[in-house]
Amino acid sequence: MPGPKTHDIFYKQLKRKISPFTLSQFPNYDKYNTFVQGHDLLIYYNFNKLGKVKLKQNIAMSVLMQENKFQEFVYTYLKCAENSGALEEEIIRLFIGAGYIMHHLLDAYIHPLIIYYTGDHTPDKNLKTWGHGCVENLIDIYMMKYLEGKNPKTYKVYEDFKIKTISSSLVETLNESIWKTYQIKQGGDMYKAALYQLKTFMKWMKYDRFGIKKQILNKIDPLVHGAASFSYHREENLVLPFLNDRRELWINPYDPSNNSHASFFDLYLNALSKGAYIVDELEKLCIKGKIHKDDIYHLIPDINSVTGLSCKQDAKILIKKEWNKMPTLF
Ligand SMILES: [Zn+2]
Repeated sequence: MPGPKTHDIFYKQLKRKISPFTLSQFPNYDKYNTFVQGHDLLIYYNFNKLGKVKLKQNIAMSVLMQENKFQEFVYTYLKCAENSGALEEEIIRLFIGAGYIMHHLLDAYIHPLIIYYTGDHTPDKNLKTWGHGCVENLIDIYMMKYLEGKNPKTYKVYEDFKIKTISSSLVETLNESIWKTYQIKQGGDMYKAALYQLKTFMKWMKYDRFGIKKQILNKIDPLVHGAASFSYHREENLVLPFLNDRRELWINPYDPSNNSHASFFDLYLNALSKGAYIVDELEKLCIKGKIHKDDIYHLIPDINSVTGLSCKQDAKILIKKEWNKMPTLF
């Protein structure tokens, strides 16, 4: 996951990139921006139900979807929708294309750079803090300020995460396709619950009008690595060392033969172009009403959203040397 706000801004910018035809198929595009939170929704699931929250289990389910069988899942979802007749529904197609696939794609483009600088999703006890989460939070703040012109410290960000009614056919399609692909039960019900809970998550964990949450979170961060990855009441310029605006050489930590000079915004814009192409082409396939495996596998790359590499490639970190150079994050 880049942070929730970064994905949200991506969804809004994608709208300006997709074709007029695609756009005409999605009159409710603006109402379902939370779909773009994709597999991260499983992490947010039930976070507000103290005593009931099973964070480890949630993360394990989400990781399964982040790293495995991406093509197969997309195909299975579309096939289930075709068989039940739900493929004709706007929100069924909106969820998978502009929502789920776009989340996964942006992750896959951005993650190698973030992980090169800061490490992956598992907080490393040898490091001062959980750099990955802190940097993603700072990127959210930076983008909110410079791309949306909102003040991250005072803006009621949770207002951007409202959700319209979710149809039962979406829940059913997800239940069936997540079970068939990953053997996770009631996946659709969990997605639905998390979509409604997301606004509260943003209000409790990110919105921080007076910076009080920040102070508490910073204090406990040495004990709970990652606490400082919450609260939007932070200085946006702390993120600058991680954006690679000077286009220095960096290496995909999972595959050292894979190197690049791309900056954060180069990667972001590449994901936006590729994303618009995929959403347009997918809509053309869906509108025919018949889903063919070859078409889907040809269009959707089988990428692991953490490594940016193929789902079949080994996901082992080989380079960690940048991590110890991490500048101050909070
Ligand atoms: Zn991430």
